[in-house]
Formats: sequence, structure tokens, C-alpha cells
Amino acid sequence: NPNLTLEFRIEPYSEQQFLVVVRDVSEVRRLENMRTQFVSNVSHELRTPLTVMRGYLEMLEPNSVNPAIWPRAHRTLTEQSKRMESLVNQLLTLARIESGSQFANHELIPVSELLSLLSDQCDSLICERELKLSYDVDEGLEVFGNREQLLSAILNLSSNAIKYCETPGEILISWSQTDTGSEFLVRDSGPGIEPVHLGRLTERFYRVDDARTRDAGGTGLGLSIVKHILAEHNSVLEIESTVGFGSCFSFELKKPVAEYKESSTDLPIR
Ligand code: ADP
Repeated sequence: NPNLTLEFRIEPYSEQQFLVVVRDVSEVRRLENMRTQFVSNVSHELRTPLTVMRGYLEMLEPNSVNPAIWPRAHRTLTEQSKRMESLVNQLLTLARIESGSQFANHELIPVSELLSLLSDQCDSLICERELKLSYDVDEGLEVFGNREQLLSAILNLSSNAIKYCETPGEILISWSQTDTGSEFLVRDSGPGIEPVHLGRLTERFYRVDDARTRDAGGTGLGLSIVKHILAEHNSVLEIESTVGFGSCFSFELKKPVAEYKESSTDLPIR
């Protein structure tokens, strides 16, 4: 088994005998590798904008500065510092989610409230790009969960659709009732994703096309945050995509058990 790592240790047992202790350390090594990989990814992601910023700061040296570069320097320094800020914010979100400290406050939330907050943010992300964004929501729908986290999950999925959709393009955001709860869905007419990438999209820092997604302002952490949030809500992210036609990201939130029992005709409660 290529994934198996064994550690051998020889210990004295008696005057003429030794014990050979064999320990399976595969899981320990796997976690160590993941941690090293993570630190190396974070360092790389932070170093790139820092290098660009340092270059511009050197050009702004008071004795030699050419005023013609000010507008470009200002734009680049703003962009790169925003990029670092969003990366650090996403890392903090991931750390908070993983420590599990966030999820105490689960409550019943009207879907209309979440979507109204979402649409305010989506409108500002679309800016003047030629994208048609529509909403389709079942009236009176409520979900049980953590308000801040659910908003973060639907915002991540919707902002990806906006970021990666080519113009002119269409995006549909829907939240509808299902037999067992409700389903949130974002469908875009963007470039689509090759099947080979689909299973890895929720890994930290995984990007389909590094250069393109970095240009789009991506950090590669969004979907991994969504995955964690959904796990805390007993849900999973479903992804369907066809290259050249677009992608669809969705998840279902189950009704709280008591409510499910009350509304189910098959399960009489005594
Ligand atoms: P990022 O911050 O780079 O967007 P994510 O974790 O949110 O990171 O997404 C991972 C990768 O999945 C992105 O870099 C992008 O390549 C791909 N991706 C996500 N959503 C879409 C989409 N709607 N259309 C095409 N590609 C997408």
C-alpha cells in the first residue's frame, strides 16, 4: 500500500531479546503533510501581493518618483492590499469554523431576509458588467441555521458565479421548497468546469486555472469555507457543470426534525 507509512523501533526486552515495535503513522504523516502544504500555500499567496506592493513602493521613492506612475501605483496598491485583506479574512473565517466556536446560534431565518442581504452585495459585485441576475424564491420559506454563516455560503457561491461568468451572461439564484426542507441553487451561463476538477474544488487553495482565477480576485478558499459551513448544517455542496454551458452549485437544508415529523403524514407522532 503506497499510502502506508510504518515506523519501526527496537526496544530491549530481556538480556538476550529485543522487541520490534511497528507503528502505523500514516495518518500522522498525512496531517503533517497537509499542515506543511497549507503553510506553504498561505505564504505563497501572501508573498505575491507583497512583492508587487514592494515594487511600487520602491518606485514611489520621494527623490526619484515620476508623478506619471501615481495613478497606476495607487490602483495597484489598493487592489493588492484588498487582495491580502480578503485572504486574511477568509483564513480567519476558516480557522473560526474549524474551531467550531461559531455555530452556537442556530435560529429560524426567513429566506427572504438572507436573499435581500445577498442581492445588495451581488448588485455591487456586478457593477456595470453585462450580466442578467434573476431570483426565484418560494414565498414564506424559512430555514434553520446560523445567519452569518449561511449568508457567507450563499454569497461565496453567488459571487463565484458573477466572477467567472463571461459577459453577456445569465445567473439564476433560486431557493425552493423540497419534501424534506429547502434547496438553494446558483446556476450560471459561465465557462463551466472540466469533470476532472469537480471533486477537488472544495480543497483549500484549489483553483481550476490559476492565472485566470487570480485575475478574477480569487483566493481558492471560498468553496472550502462553503463546504465547512454546510457540514455544520448537515448538508453537502452539489456541483454540476458542463464546459461551454455553465455551472450549477446547490445544497439542501433539511427541516428541523420536529417540524419534519409534524408535517409528515407517514410518521404519526404519539
Ligand atoms: P476562488 O476564490 O478562487 O474563487 P473558490 O474556492 O471559491 O476559490 O473556487 C475554486 C475554483 O473553482 C475557482 O478558482 C474557479 O476556478 C472554480 N469555480 C468556482 N465557481 C465557479 C463558477 N461558477 N464557474 C467556473 N469556475 C468556478
